[in-house]
Amino acid sequence: ETKKSLNFIEHIIEEDLGKDYSKSDLRFRFPPEPNGYLHIGHASSICLNFGLGLRYNAPVNLRFDDTNPAKEEKEYVDAIKRDVEWLGFQWDKECYASDYFQQLYDWAVLLIKDGKAYVDSQSSEEMAKQKGTPTEPGVESPYRNRTVAENLALFEQMKNGDFEEGIHVLRAKIDMASTNMLMRDPIMYRVIHRAHHRTNTDWCIYPMYDWTHGESDYIEQVSHSLCTLEFLPHRELYDWFLDQLVSKDKLRPKQREFARRNLSHTVVSKRKLLKLVEDGVVSGWDDPRMPTISGMRRRGYPPESIRNFVDTIGIAKRDNVVDVSLLEFHVREHLNKVAPRVMAVLNPLKVVITNYPEGEEEWLKAENNPEDESAGTREVPFSREIYIEQEDFKEEANRKFFRLKLGGEVRLKNGYIIKAESCTKDENGNIVEVQCTYDPKSKSGSGTEESLRKVKGTLHWVSIKHAETAEIRLYDRLFTNETPDANKEKDFMEFVNRDSLQIVTGYLEPSLKNVTIGDQVQFQRLGYFNVDQDSTDEKLIFNRTVGLRDTWAK
Ligand code: ATP
Ligand code: MG
Ligand code: MG
Repeated sequence: ETKKSLNFIEHIIEEDLGKDYSKSDLRFRFPPEPNGYLHIGHASSICLNFGLGLRYNAPVNLRFDDTNPAKEEKEYVDAIKRDVEWLGFQWDKECYASDYFQQLYDWAVLLIKDGKAYVDSQSSEEMAKQKGTPTEPGVESPYRNRTVAENLALFEQMKNGDFEEGIHVLRAKIDMASTNMLMRDPIMYRVIHRAHHRTNTDWCIYPMYDWTHGESDYIEQVSHSLCTLEFLPHRELYDWFLDQLVSKDKLRPKQREFARRNLSHTVVSKRKLLKLVEDGVVSGWDDPRMPTISGMRRRGYPPESIRNFVDTIGIAKRDNVVDVSLLEFHVREHLNKVAPRVMAVLNPLKVVITNYPEGEEEWLKAENNPEDESAGTREVPFSREIYIEQEDFKEEANRKFFRLKLGGEVRLKNGYIIKAESCTKDENGNIVEVQCTYDPKSKSGSGTEESLRKVKGTLHWVSIKHAETAEIRLYDRLFTNETPDANKEKDFMEFVNRDSLQIVTGYLEPSLKNVTIGDQVQFQRLGYFNVDQDSTDEKLIFNRTVGLRDTWAK
């Protein structure tokens, strides 16, 4: 871990350590707005900030950027805390921008007294017209030169709730000719008559992001305030606000930027994810198809796999799209080590072993995880009638088909070698049953010459009379397009894959009777699955977490 080369943010910090800060000054924060659930993009920011905390043994705050009561909710705060913890990180202080409303107000009053802020009483349309363009200077508001006394009185009235929304705003008095549009007298406060999830109706003026963020960093004495690239032009304003307030004996925070992480075949924007929830495209924020942390958790993605993925892609200076298959690779890699192997059939075809005595059964020893000897063994029942997958049988096939065909042999995993002798079809020509014979001396692990005999294919199977049934939810990508929200002509909703959920009945070996919600297994040859939270004592439900790359049977 310490040998790993530094990313560019770590280089920035290393440079700062010699100059502006000492090691004990370092402090970071992860600053979500509680207006939705966290997604895989946030995981990058979380791992970056908390990773720095671990590397430098520095505290990391969880800061809720809760300045917009119209969009924020307690439900989101709770979900965010759960998700950060589940990813494996511990924050130092749990902070809320709303806890600083009084301090921010007091500072705004200081700015007014200093002639650095004024109350503007124009409509937002008028103000927008005066903004100018990047190449043309803006027009100063007719209210720009209000007296300090007038500004103070109006601002207090705004705070007291004397005005409707949209009548007055507080603006910083900076430079209407700045080449940075954000410096053209940005709005600091607007009136919103909405109850806030924490401050209730204490306030009806709410501070804007730019006014809030750097000041919150300053209050918490955050040394490096890391944000995504779209905030690069905000840095000048971040610094301007700090210039007005920072005292010499206190640490001065720095904003530094890194690239947003996007994932292919999905959208990583809370606003767009909310749309999927509201339109009923998915069952909720934690639908297993969602790129949210809670969706991935429910889907069965281990937190380690998400951290490893984020680590592998690293942090970048330019926005880019990472292929979702890389995330799936890390999910598989982790589950391969930890998930017990079991047998389940999802698309059953009945096989009758004609030379196996009727009414008899036996229990075969099966290894739980070839990757982990300590996982031990279990027993699976074998009897005269079993299910195999329909795809695993063909009447005739070429030499490359290493599964079952008439006259051909395969090994049943953990069991015997069988040979297909004949099959039965229904009136539509569909194969409904295969009659096989088995070689009684070929039992796996029995040590006989026949047990060591090599046959090309090995199939998973389940004894019909012992099988447990379960609902199996098979997921496909939520979008048909690789970059659904990068298209100029079409809305991302047009790329929703309406067939992204398929539900089938699975037949499972009986050891699965005792699983509990969240348990993860590999259905051999099919993929990794976990027990969904919708499961009840009467009905088991599995999610397919991720498919397998076919390894031991083609
Ligand atoms: P969204 O567009 O989904 O609402 P946001 O940036 O507005 O995203 P915040 O709650 O403000 O969401 O984000 C908290 C932190 O996570 C911010 O520092 C933000 O820059 C970072 N972040 C958000 N999305 C990504 C992403 N896709 N990649 C990397 N960091 C991200
Ligand atoms: Mg934000
Ligand atoms: Mg946002």
